[in-house]
Amino acid sequence: MECLFCKIVNREIPADIVYEDDHVLAFNDIDPQAPVHQLIIPKQHIATLNDIAPDDLSVVGRLQYTAATLAKQQGFAEDGYRVVMNCNAMGGQTVYHIHMHLLGGRQFTWPAG
Ligand code: 5GP
Repeated sequence: MECLFCKIVNREIPADIVYEDDHVLAFNDIDPQAPVHQLIIPKQHIATLNDIAPDDLSVVGRLQYTAATLAKQQGFAEDGYRVVMNCNAMGGQTVYHIHMHLLGGRQFTWPAG
């Protein structure tokens, strides 16, 4: 198994885990771009957003629900936050196991870089 995030799921490499259930894992990003920067991943390996199959349609919903729950628990849901999913090279994806970035605790600008 070569996937970095599968190794985190399987506890083969360490991560600062902030949430886990049967389907989803969330942990702090190793290179935070905001006061709160967490990655929310499905435990199931899916390489990119392009690889989501009809049977996986609940996956992105679970990621989004977890992001909103974590934002509420950490107290910045009402102020606002950003979620990002990068897809493939032009989208800025560097780890090929889908993940939702949850960024909070500062003002974000648009358009994203
Ligand atoms: P992407 O660029 O694919 O959208 O995001 C990948 C994210 O994974 C980056 O924000 C990067 O900092 C984070 N990352 C890469 N390697 C590790 C790691 O070993 N541990 C953790 N916690 N985050 C990582």
